[in-house]
Amino acid sequence: MGRCNPYGYATDTGPKHLMGGIYGPEYAGRQVLLKDGIHGPAACDRQADRRMRLVCEVGHAGPVMDLCGTHAMEIMERMASCCTRCVWPDAARGLNEGSEYLCAEIGRAKLDGDTLRAGQLQAQLNDIARQMDDLYARGIIRKVPLKLVEVS
Ligand SMILES: [Zn+2]
Ligand SMILES: [Zn+2]
Repeated sequence: MGRCNPYGYATDTGPKHLMGGIYGPEYAGRQVLLKDGIHGPAACDRQADRRMRLVCEVGHAGPVMDLCGTHAMEIMERMASCCTRCVWPDAARGLNEGSEYLCAEIGRAKLDGDTLRAGQLQAQLNDIARQMDDLYARGIIRKVPLKLVEVS
């Protein structure tokens, strides 16, 4: 077992564990900061002393991670609240991609000083937010807790 590698940093493939692998490394900074409240790349210097993976009750299993005790606890607290694959069905994923795009476009319109376009885009974004709420309300987006289990 090598060094603790909690979020897939310091590897060639980047933070592939993030959001169940939906997002590429280019999203890492924002996802890490906004969704999980972890600031900056979460590389770790400690030696891993356990090998673990996150599993949900439906049977989704995340990649095996080599972890130190501190990061095992941190992942339990921060990442284990819901299964990303259960929480992001295809419908929600499409909406989320739409909102990512709109957020970027709104930023660009504001930079250009185009308040009219920014307002129109914001209205579209609000509409996506309502559709997401609706998916939650109908139980299509589900929060399924994950358990961090040790693998031998
Ligand atoms: Zn660690
Ligand atoms: Zn799941």
